[in-house]
Amino acid sequence: MSAKVESQVSLKPYNSFGIDAEALHFAQARSDDDVRQLLAYAASEDLPVLVIGGGSNLLLTRDVTALVLRMNSSGIRVLSDDGERVVVEAEAGEPWHPFVQWTLEHGLAGLENLSLIPGTVGAAPMQNIGAYGVEIKDVFAGLTALDRQTGDLHEFSLEECEFAYRDSHFKRNPGRWIILRVRFALSRVGALHLDYGPVRQRLADQGITQPTARDVSEAICSIRAEKLPDPATLGNAGSFFKNPVVSAELAQCIRDQHPGVVAYPQADGRVKLAAGWLIEQAGWKGYRDGDAGVHRMQALVLVNYGQATGEQVHELAQKIQGDVLERFGVELEMEPNLY
Ligand code: FAD
Ligand code: NAP
Repeated sequence: MSAKVESQVSLKPYNSFGIDAEALHFAQARSDDDVRQLLAYAASEDLPVLVIGGGSNLLLTRDVTALVLRMNSSGIRVLSDDGERVVVEAEAGEPWHPFVQWTLEHGLAGLENLSLIPGTVGAAPMQNIGAYGVEIKDVFAGLTALDRQTGDLHEFSLEECEFAYRDSHFKRNPGRWIILRVRFALSRVGALHLDYGPVRQRLADQGITQPTARDVSEAICSIRAEKLPDPATLGNAGSFFKNPVVSAELAQCIRDQHPGVVAYPQADGRVKLAAGWLIEQAGWKGYRDGDAGVHRMQALVLVNYGQATGEQVHELAQKIQGDVLERFGVELEMEPNLY
């Protein structure tokens, strides 16, 4: 077997929360063959398998009594190019943001609003990553996944992925599929999405009136760098809760008591509330208990100041959920994957 299996490995460098949980066994897969061999090894040892990428959407609440298989495959290729529409395929282990930069350097638009999201290409379909009004479903052109039940490869179409807000077929069927490579339909003449949050204003502040996709990417990188803690210096997994989508009646009831509520009407008549606003109103912004806390600039982000355990972060998350439910009647759903 070409991949090396190590034992009793700290996962601290492999999760952006910086939680010091231990993997019973750990190995990195650089190819499809590595993945198959590691799955066969795990089966022969009767070990469960936990697949990870960059560990930026994980909360490890205990040691992992499994083989942790980290996707580390690499490769980016153009599959087709008709002069306007270009289909690009990337291996699962490719880090996401450098991949976005590669597309921009090749004059391809489509992923610029998803700049600076941590993690890997292979994990991006898991929760249909999204930011600044774009989700990967908007540029998705297919993916190849290994079915762990049968050992067969399956080519997924857009419909089969069942993408939704921070959700997908893969998230709803955890452990079944290993995503090996993902395809994106990008554009040399793409329309840019500037109407979300402060993007247009940031470009205007820089005197840019006819932005390119690269300009949009740079504007979003600068906004994100100001608002979000860098996991390299403060452990976190980005937004800890999804924005809740509630009935129009509940949204109105909250608005009656809190006229400043941040709310976005949805096409189906329901209303998306900004979870960060609810948590901040409940007084949690900047809260700290030991080394687990709520970021002082962004209430949606839970942080590890150094030695917090995953359990402590989870307990804090549960307290916030209970408080928000009691105050506003709104259930907050956690976004990271708990182990
Ligand atoms: P991991 O955390 O390693 O894994 C996540 C899940 O996917 C796990 O369940 C794992 O088992 C599974 N998985 C991983 N790779 C594979 C694979 N190849 N095949 C099958 N299953 C797999 N998310 C957004 O949507 N939008 C944002 O704007 C955003 N901003 C963030 C900002 C910060 C500072 C941080 C820390 C996180 C942010 N996130 C955001 C969350 C996170 O970056 C994304 O969800 C990212 O796609 C996770 O990738 P990963 O490789 O780190 O996945
Ligand atoms: P923000 O711009 O301060 O906005 C707060 C919330 O309001 C966001 O969560 C966003 O929902 C919603 N929102 C803002 N403008 C909207 C519009 N025009 N239409 C509908 N909804 C709107 O948010 P932020 O925290 O700085 O994040 C900026 C973007 O990056 C958001 O898209 C956010 O989802 C994404 N992000 C995600 C993570 C993560 O870990 N998942 C981490 C950081 C940033 P949406 O979240 O639905 O877009």
